[in-house]
Amino acid sequence: MERIYIKDLKDHAGEEVVIKGFVDTLRDQNKIVFIILRDITGKIQNVVLKDCEDFDLAKDLTEESVIEIKGLVKEEKQAPGGFEIETKKIVLLSSAAPELPIPVNTRKGGEETNITSRLDYRFIDLRKPEKANIFKAWTAFERGMRNYFEKNNFIQVYTPSFMNTSSETGAEVFEVSYFERKAYLAQSPQFYKQMAIASGLEKVFISGPVFRAEESFTTRHMTEFTGWDFEIGFINDHHDLMKSEEEMIKTGFEKIKEDLPELDIEIPQIPFPKITIKEAKEKLEAAGVKGEKEHDLSPEEERRICEIIKTETGNDFVFITDYDISIRPFYHMRHENNPQLTKSADLLYKGIEITTLAQREHRPEILEKQAVEKKMDLNLLSKYLEFFKYGCPPHGGGGIGPSRLFMKMFGYDNVREVTFLPRDVNRLEP
Ligand code: ATP
Repeated sequence: MERIYIKDLKDHAGEEVVIKGFVDTLRDQNKIVFIILRDITGKIQNVVLKDCEDFDLAKDLTEESVIEIKGLVKEEKQAPGGFEIETKKIVLLSSAAPELPIPVNTRKGGEETNITSRLDYRFIDLRKPEKANIFKAWTAFERGMRNYFEKNNFIQVYTPSFMNTSSETGAEVFEVSYFERKAYLAQSPQFYKQMAIASGLEKVFISGPVFRAEESFTTRHMTEFTGWDFEIGFINDHHDLMKSEEEMIKTGFEKIKEDLPELDIEIPQIPFPKITIKEAKEKLEAAGVKGEKEHDLSPEEERRICEIIKTETGNDFVFITDYDISIRPFYHMRHENNPQLTKSADLLYKGIEITTLAQREHRPEILEKQAVEKKMDLNLLSKYLEFFKYGCPPHGGGGIGPSRLFMKMFGYDNVREVTFLPRDVNRLEP
């Protein structure tokens, strides 16, 4: 008999079925054993009566063991979900040791175990349905974005993680031994996606690993994380990029709503509010929030400006635009009418930066000039600068950090909570 998912049991009332999953809860009431079985789609109560051939097996089960149950689906008003299963047969597929290193089911009271222990036993931590929901939502979101990319003629490319030079901005990169020489792990697919534009692919997207060798111990930084990147050719300016990004994000939210209605996710309104960094600073000042940097937002300022915008517009998202050249890389294009400002933006969501985007400088002589101004080594950049010498459309793009997006969407306070297996300064396992 084919196994069915617990969520589909309602369509099988009165039928005999096979279900499989983990023993979520056991209640032994002497002449009757209740097994709450959990699979990836839900939970169901199974009643094992004394006359069931596997009654003794049911009595000996341990929570979190993996079993198969054959039984009759019955409507039962008293049971959670309105259905239960009258158990006919139980097969023990894998037995769980009676003591779990961390609890799955916290119903017996108490808080969740601390994050370090939970990450050490991530495979047990993730058995909690609310944790699985994060990854279901992430998958649905990517399905939505993929629809957006398909409708809008994007092409997916896969960029390498090994690099010959230490990447764009000279930021901290991991050095690895690469046969007889050294290689570096890409801290951004930035240059490669620009190369895709020079290749004539026009619109590209990437989902892949990004490495940062920064000794950060914050709740928003990891040493390896998934990056979603996009790059678009033939744009007019960074406003085209913001428009694309808000549409792709909205499509992601819509797909979660459609595929996982039980999560009750709110779809954001587009267009997202947009304010310049100058306006943001003015609003913060008016609210009595002082920042250390004239041209950039501190984490506290990011949090406060999101609160202010939320109150003003009701939106959880806000683009902060037109950053000063002093805090932007050499390749960001500058405004014609104010060369001190870049055609760039950061997207903030519920108090945290989730994206940096910008129109890139595609005119080789200006790009080179800006690189010299920023004291970049032109020899190291020579291959990059070449992309623009043989015809390259005006273009721009951005990188989204999905872990920050899902952290905020699910109300967690640490990106590690929404990362399958996080990597940071201290953690290289599991
Ligand atoms: P921050 O200023 O917060 O360190 P960044 O400016 O270095 O971030 P970008 O290089 O613009 O970030 O990367 C694009 C996006 O990737 C960021 O907006 C963020 O969402 C995400 N991101 C950046 N660094 C990390 C990290 N160490 N861990 C997790 N996500 C990150």
